[in-house]
Amino acid sequence: MKITTAARILAAMLLGVLYAMAAIHYGWAQFTNDWIAGIGEAFIRLLKLIAVPLVLVSVVTGVASLPDPQHLGRLGGKTLLAYCATTLLAIGLGIVLSVSLRPGHTVGERQQARNRLAYELWAEQAGVPLLDGKRLSENAAFTSLATDVQAEQAQQTQGPDPLADKLAEKEKAQSKTGLNYLVDTLIPDNIFDALGDIRSLLKVIFFGILLGIALLFLPEAQAAPLLSLMHSLNAALLLLIDWVMRLAPVFVFALIAGTIVPMADSLGALTKLLLSLLSFTGVALGGLLLLAFGLYPLLLGLATRQWQYAGFFRRIFPAQSMAFSSSSSAATLPVTLKCVTEELKVSPAIANFVLPIGSTVNMDGTSLYQTVCIIFLAQWHGIELSTAHYLLMAAMITLSSIGSAAVPSGGLVLMMVVLESMGLNAAWVGIILPMDRLLDMFRTVVNVTGDILVARVIAHSDGYGTF
Ligand code: ASP
Repeated sequence: MKITTAARILAAMLLGVLYAMAAIHYGWAQFTNDWIAGIGEAFIRLLKLIAVPLVLVSVVTGVASLPDPQHLGRLGGKTLLAYCATTLLAIGLGIVLSVSLRPGHTVGERQQARNRLAYELWAEQAGVPLLDGKRLSENAAFTSLATDVQAEQAQQTQGPDPLADKLAEKEKAQSKTGLNYLVDTLIPDNIFDALGDIRSLLKVIFFGILLGIALLFLPEAQAAPLLSLMHSLNAALLLLIDWVMRLAPVFVFALIAGTIVPMADSLGALTKLLLSLLSFTGVALGGLLLLAFGLYPLLLGLATRQWQYAGFFRRIFPAQSMAFSSSSSAATLPVTLKCVTEELKVSPAIANFVLPIGSTVNMDGTSLYQTVCIIFLAQWHGIELSTAHYLLMAAMITLSSIGSAAVPSGGLVLMMVVLESMGLNAAWVGIILPMDRLLDMFRTVVNVTGDILVARVIAHSDGYGTF
């Protein structure tokens, strides 16, 4: 990817932000919705259209072109290990930053006491034990505040909250537990159903790996026709991506504008929104940037002994900018594959196996974000988490990042499951919801960069791919 293309995409992003500010100021929201947002939506649709069949063919060709089945076992083991390691690193970073910077405590003591009392009330009604075993409502100094909070809550529960209800319904539908969760996330019972839903990419990958293994075991004469069909389909889909990407700057402009404009109806409201959760946003954003632009290049340098900071980021910029503007690792996958094979020179056999799995299994940005959110929400409600809570949270977030769909706000629903399984109120996602869409752009960049890092490191350890 030439620098000029990267520069054009960057300019389009900036123009998108400037346009969005002007549109909010001059009231062009309707125009933006009717005539600009659709262009961005068309781009996402085109990318998704290509992504699902591309995942299938790239996984099948990736697996089938490995030298032998043992190689697949080694590659699979390394890939999963590397993905677990980067996810845990992200969660660890989230814990260190949130515990040391304490973003939830900026809420102020009185408000924190109110939040705490509301939490105690909710726990009592839901029959859930208090996480730290303390009870502020029993403190005589807070009796009158407790009565106020109780009265407010009684008033609030009279009218239903449609958003919280919708999310809770979604969560209920998705919350399978134990082995059922893994089976439901991984194994399709109908491949055509799985192919019809971009949220089921993991199932498509599962089928692709099985088909690829079967091809490895078939006699060459029998495997060859299907394999050559897959290869030519792969090449055709990559060519389609090439064509779509030529218009990337226009699409990126429309996507950024279409995302920011509906966030507020005046520049003042936009500023207020950003300021209201500033401490949380600052920690989440700082952590995401530190991971993507600090720790990842460091890990890459240590693992490959090649220190090419600017060169690395210039080569993967198209994938990062696509992740930023689409907020979907799945929609970005075709561009990620292209950058990694063409720019980073990772062998297609490795990239085609490692990246599709990574796009749905490895979500370092989402994991870091969820960690910061959960600790922030606990602090905001004056709850002290213990080491055991942090460990449970890390395990739950790792599992949930595997099941999260690689689409905009895909991690949000599963964050409710994590909150609930920790004994916290799932409806608290409503507090961070206003910032979710904006931070989704940044965490998707980290998700995609993490996948690229792992693909590059695995290629290096396999003796493939140098700059
Ligand atoms: N949008 C993210 C992705 O596609 C998932 C999430 O964190 O919501 O990678």
